[in-house]
Parts: sequence; C-alpha cells; structure tokens
Amino acid sequence: MTRRISIFGATGSVGTSTLDLVGRDNDAWQVVALTAHSDVDALAAAARAHRAEVAVIGREDLYADIKTALAGTGIRAEAGPQALVDVARLDVDWTMAAIVGTAGLEPTLAALERGHSVALANKESLVSAGALMMEAVRSSGATLLPVDSEHNAIFQCLAGGRMEDVRRITLTASGGPFRTFTKAQMAAVTPAQAVKHPNWSMGAKISIDSATMMNKGLELIEADHLFPVGLDNIDILVHPQSVIHSMVEYRDCSTLAQLGSPDMRIPIAHALAWPRRIATPCRPLDLVAIGRLDFEAPDPDRFPGLRLAREAARAGGGHPATLNAANEVAVAAFLAGRIGFLDIAAIVEDVLAGYSAPVPRSIAEILEVDGEARRAATGIVERVQV
Ligand code: NAD
Ligand code: MG
Repeated sequence: MTRRISIFGATGSVGTSTLDLVGRDNDAWQVVALTAHSDVDALAAAARAHRAEVAVIGREDLYADIKTALAGTGIRAEAGPQALVDVARLDVDWTMAAIVGTAGLEPTLAALERGHSVALANKESLVSAGALMMEAVRSSGATLLPVDSEHNAIFQCLAGGRMEDVRRITLTASGGPFRTFTKAQMAAVTPAQAVKHPNWSMGAKISIDSATMMNKGLELIEADHLFPVGLDNIDILVHPQSVIHSMVEYRDCSTLAQLGSPDMRIPIAHALAWPRRIATPCRPLDLVAIGRLDFEAPDPDRFPGLRLAREAARAGGGHPATLNAANEVAVAAFLAGRIGFLDIAAIVEDVLAGYSAPVPRSIAEILEVDGEARRAATGIVERVQV
C-alpha cells in the first residue's frame, strides 16, 4: 500500500538522503509536501522529480519565485512560517522533521499534534520544547521515530525490551575533527576546518556542533526526553570510528549495541520503513576492513558543551531552550567568521549564566525564552567580534 509522506527540510542533508531512499521505490510512497527555507530552485526540482502535491518555501518573500518555478506543474506553491505549520497538519502517514534549529519547532509540533508518525531529525525542537512535544505525542497518539543515528540505535536496541529493565544508555560520539586538538590549536581553527567531519557528511550547523561536541550535549537532552532512564544514567563515550551508534545496558548486565556504516540513510530507512525494513544502497559493515574499535572518555575541559548541556538538562525549565538558542546564534557567528571557535561555548555559558525566568509552559513562552537568549547571544557576539 502506498504511504503518503511529507519531508520538512527536503533540501538539506537529511532531507535529500530521505528523498534518495523514497525515489528508489515510487510505488511505496506518495510525496505530499516538501519544504525548504530559501533554495527555490532545489525545492522546485525536488517537487517535480518526486511529483509532490505541495511545495513550501519558508521565506514568505520568495512566494512569487516558488510559484513561478512550479508554474504549469500542478504542484501547489506556498510560502511562510504559517504555511509550514498548515502543511504539517495535512493528512499523511509519515512526516520527516528535518528542518535545522528552532525553526522546525512549530511544524514538528503540528505534525505530532495531528497524530502522525513523525521521524525526528530536528533535535533542536526536542531540546527546546521536549516536555511539550512528548506531551503532544502522548495526547495525540503520534509515533515519534528517532532519526538521529544514536537515538535511532537506542530505539533499535530497545525493540523487544522494556524501559524499566534498562539500567544505562551510552551515546557514542566520534569526537569530531578536533578530538585530539589542544585548546590552543582549537582557538585558531577556521569554519572550513570545523565543518569537515571525519566520518559523517552533514549540514553546516550540526557539523560545527559535532566539532564543539555541543551536538552530543544536545543529544543528551534529546535522549533524556525520548528514553526516560534518568539523566545520570545516560553516558557519553567517545568512539572515533562511528561504527557503534549507541548502546543500551539492561539490568542483567547485557548490553545491546547497533552497528553500521556512518551513513544517515540507514537510520532514515529504519524510520521510513518502521516497523518493517527496506533495502538501502548503503555499504554493509566490514569489520575486518575496519580492524579495530577504539573508545575513550570525553574531555570536559576541551569540550565544555557537554557539561553545559548536562547542567541545562538538570536545571530544566527554560535552560535547554536558552542553551540551544545561544548555541544557534554562536554557531552562525562562527560560520560567518565573526567569532572564534572557543567563543561558541563561552557565549552559551554566558547566556545561560544570565538566564532566570519562570518555567515556560507553552510554545509561546518557549519561543520567548528562545528570543531572549538570541538577543543576549547576539549582544555578546557584537562585543567579542574578531
Ligand atoms: P541542513 O542545513 O543540511 O538542512 C536544513 C534544512 O532545513 C534545509 O532544507 C533548509 O532549507 C531547512 N531550513 C533551514 N532553516 C529553515 C527555516 N528557518 N525555516 C524553514 N526551513 C529551514 O541540515 P541537516 O544536516 O540536514 O540537519 C537537519 C536536522 O537534522 C538538524 O536538526 C540536525 O541536527 C539533524 N541531524 C542531521 C544529521 C545529518 O547527518 N545531517 C544527523 C543527525 C541529526
Ligand atoms: Mg547524532
């Protein structure tokens, strides 16, 4: 039976990997909606190639452009943040949430409230608004399928198990391109060096997050919402080969791990076909060629993002949203060449230190906390600018 699917963030790294899988079996999936932020040509090309019903460009001012690009195709063109939310409410069987950053929060939440199966790549939405999102999952009966490779690995290791029998979860981390760098070396790295991940090919923002290891901090908070074992029972383990994607330890001391080549199409395929499996063009694991697997403890001194994220998770309330928003601003400033690499975590720490507000109880209140953190981070960026 053909399943109706939508892909939010269709022009990004996760979005195009999803379309790559979908395009291999056109009878299995009917693409309903595709969305992108500003790349009109890429969105129109994907919408045509996959015979989408509707294409949404996030930037409202690009409405005329997407409309022109799709003229004569019968594909409906829409634009703006409200259109993203409206389209997330369309009746589909499966939605991929692969917008990067807090921009994905409202459409992802709308899809969850509709009770769809939602494949979640957009970890920032869960970091900022995890409690409200998990509440939406419970009340709508939506299925949340983790796409982040670590969380997808844990989800796979939990199949057939019970959460109450889990003692510990271990998130593996590659350590990023600067795993062996000293702080002095890190102080001088350029955006071009930082976006070059040793194992994975990903969008710019998550690549920088991997280099600072804030990505693993965000993933810690993500895991805390998805898998309720308690924050203190979620460990981070540096594993440079990125072969073991994460592990679950049960109370009988049995540990299950999920292994695979570092190719996002594997966890995406798992979420797309769940509860079944589909064939992928990915390379099967060749452990003889890999030869060895290494492990080390993360270094909290060189990678303060891990500590900041754990503290924010423990403090709860608006702290994770503050951490995430300050990080988004700092990463963008680093990518624009305005601040140094080590300034990223320093800015996040400063903004968190200045945060104190009542616990946000609604999306509107979370977006207020997010906006306040962005303003504070932008102010610091303007002062430290190199
Ligand atoms: P990307 O930068 O390659 O793509 C982001 C997508 O979001 C693009 O389609 C872009 O047009 C859209 N977008 C950006 N800003 C937007 C806005 N303001 N409004 C509407 N749409 C907007 O990012 P990516 O690497 O594909 O990552 C997407 C998400 O998946 C992130 O949350 C990331 O942390 C997560 N993730 C990615 C990977 C990976 O391998 N790339 C792995 C795990 C998790
Ligand atoms: Mg990950």
